[in-house]
Amino acid sequence: MTVKIGINGYGTIGKRIASAIMKVSGLELVGVVKRSPDYGALQAHKQGLALYAPDEESAKKFEKAGLPVKGTLKELLGEVDLIVDSTPGGVGAKYKPLYEEHGVKAIYQGGEKADVAEVSFSSLCNYEEAIGRNSVRVVSCNTTGLLRVICTLNKVFGVEKVRATIIRRAADPKEVKRGPVNSIVLNPPKLPSHHAIDVKSVLPWLDIWTSAVVVPTTLMHVHNLIVYLKRDASREDVIEALKQAPRIMLVSSEASGIKSTAQLVEAAREVRPRYDIPELVIFEDSIHIEGRELVFFQAVHQESIVVPENIDAIKAMMSLERDPVKAIQDTDSLLGVSKSLW
Ligand code: NAD
Repeated sequence: MTVKIGINGYGTIGKRIASAIMKVSGLELVGVVKRSPDYGALQAHKQGLALYAPDEESAKKFEKAGLPVKGTLKELLGEVDLIVDSTPGGVGAKYKPLYEEHGVKAIYQGGEKADVAEVSFSSLCNYEEAIGRNSVRVVSCNTTGLLRVICTLNKVFGVEKVRATIIRRAADPKEVKRGPVNSIVLNPPKLPSHHAIDVKSVLPWLDIWTSAVVVPTTLMHVHNLIVYLKRDASREDVIEALKQAPRIMLVSSEASGIKSTAQLVEAAREVRPRYDIPELVIFEDSIHIEGRELVFFQAVHQESIVVPENIDAIKAMMSLERDPVKAIQDTDSLLGVSKSLW
């Protein structure tokens, strides 16, 4: 069976999900919806992707630019089994009635509120909950990073509670109008930040508090976590558990000299298209444990970390694979998700 898929919103996340879908056998990317003709549309066209416009008015803009579209979003919805919505936060919810009207399954991204979909999703935590669903929301990049490590630690040691500080990148590299340029901004000033609430959309039982600041960088987010484990563990036990987990990459500064997001990205530039790092990177040297209190730093490549989860969500919703371990292994091997950049 071939699953026909469309993507609505071909930006940072949409174009990466498109590339990933094209690597998975059994999935067919029917087309992508672009709002206006720009370099992204030109490149999609050059790659041979079928372009669609959200509506007739947008389609005219494409015609005017000499880049004809194959149809409108409504026409695309008539051809697909599942739509991946990767429009900006809040826009996906506006499209929800249209997706439902066409009887098409929908994946939403983390910029939407949790109630947009039947399930908020993170593969390592709740793959099974997405099986056969009509709508799933893949949580945001920061929440994906938090959930990957929390669910890994919970499986091995049990997690009592989590306290985390999120140091957020200000903008994606392409975004020319966002700041801050010269400040560290409390995000928000009143705690907790929305990340704790978002983690609870997948793990409602977890005692978690988060705070966040935005800093002038575009490369990656960094998190500082304090995780209270349910049982005693040594530093070596924790490292071993993280080494065994999928989608988590330990980076040792002793071996690599890496102690910053800039160096991580520089290493990825040598081996990864778009310098994507869909793995959650944990700085191995920062792992410190006293009793049951575990502390460490981790880095999240915001542009790519949610891509494997989107592929898993498709597999679960379309009941292509019921076993989470197999689904994750298969996705990772197709997308080149690995334990090391060298
Ligand atoms: P983006 O701005 O890079 O891409 C969104 C695309 O949707 C753009 O091409 C835009 O032109 C298009 N668009 C806007 N309005 C539209 C409409 N009405 N109809 C169709 N297309 C429309 O945004 P992004 O960073 O890819 O974010 C998409 C979603 O993914 C958001 O929910 C966001 O919160 C989430 N997300 C973003 C990141 C990140 O760091 N960039 C990480 C994880 C999750």
